[in-house]
Amino acid sequence: MKIQEADAKGLLLEQGLPVPGWEVARTAADARAAAERAFESGASAVVIKAQVLVGGRGKAGGVKLAGSADEAERVAGAILGMDIKGITVRKVLVAAAADIAKEFYLSAVLDRAARRILLMGSAEGGVEIEQVAAERPEAIVTVHADPLLGLRDWQARELAFRMGLGTHLKAAVGIAKGLVATMLANDADLVEINPLAIVRERDASGSIGEQLVCLDAKVTLDDSALPRHPGLEALRDLDEEDPTDIEARRAGISFIKLDGTIGCMVNGAGLAMTTMDLVKRAGGEPANFLDIGGGARSDKVAEAMRLILADPKVDAILVNIFGGITRGDEVARGLIEARRQQTRDVPMIVRIVGTNADEAGRLLREARFETAESLDDAAAKAVAASRGAAA
Ligand code: GDP
Ligand code: MN
Repeated sequence: MKIQEADAKGLLLEQGLPVPGWEVARTAADARAAAERAFESGASAVVIKAQVLVGGRGKAGGVKLAGSADEAERVAGAILGMDIKGITVRKVLVAAAADIAKEFYLSAVLDRAARRILLMGSAEGGVEIEQVAAERPEAIVTVHADPLLGLRDWQARELAFRMGLGTHLKAAVGIAKGLVATMLANDADLVEINPLAIVRERDASGSIGEQLVCLDAKVTLDDSALPRHPGLEALRDLDEEDPTDIEARRAGISFIKLDGTIGCMVNGAGLAMTTMDLVKRAGGEPANFLDIGGGARSDKVAEAMRLILADPKVDAILVNIFGGITRGDEVARGLIEARRQQTRDVPMIVRIVGTNADEAGRLLREARFETAESLDDAAAKAVAASRGAAA
């Protein structure tokens, strides 16, 4: 699960990392108020940043500085509603602008093959790391941290020196260890700071000093570990999720949208994949992966049907149910009910075997559904129906 920069920064702060303060605003007026507070606290400029779950916001015009409250309101107004890589900006982060002396890159990512946490650092921060990796791979330094011991001090020191952060050694070591701590505390699979920046700051006595701070933060969480962290679910940004995905998760249905025309409703992940393979082999393209799960009741079947039909490209539906715990007659009742509610008439080919398959077959025939005996037969009929609809 991806989370917004502001939320990622919150997780970094919890681990004691140096992150300058910020506020999140959903309207230009709120952004203005946040900017006013920053100016009152002594900022000479503010930075307004689009909160969207994609990288490269700066390049896309989603990160701007403003020198006054008026300008902050104007800039926030321009960024809110902006389209960045297909996502509409609905909120902005407002913070006192940092006076950047130099930008670095630092990240911790799960290295599954090595069974370690991989730290990557570079003195070439600010730009996209993929570009650095492609053009100047020697500019990236790496070290592996043990998932049980975390990043050892000596490893962190070596990383900092090789990144050219020798003059900020203590801070760099703390930050590198903090990234690993953030990762472990939240079961994150990526924690990325770009830029990690040396900034000039005026201290209480008025003299200017340098600080190493996290100016940007990207964290992705391991979906499978979310149940271990009930608090993190709240960081899911529903603004950016496909409504169908939200609905599917609520209903407890595994659903992944694909590009084809044949909707698939199946119970069991393995059978769902097999069904998709057979649709392909019969010359069709599956519109989705859908596993209604074991023991699905008729209301869940109806919900699954709604999810499939929400995709306008779907012009045929293949239902493939293996009745074990799932009762065939329950599924048949769900299908009949779903078709009654359905606003769009799409041909449906149903194959149900196993528990109560006879009863299911009787119900479906009475309701004039097209049924199929074998999976190959069902796939062929679905593809033919889809072609017929497309013609
Ligand atoms: P990204 O493009 O989505 O990675 O967004 P970033 O938060 O990394 O911002 C992009 C760039 O904007 C950074 O690399 C900085 O050069 C610049 N930037 C971000 N925050 C500040 C700031 O507070 N002050 C200044 N001067 N520049 C900033
Ligand atoms: Mn960045």
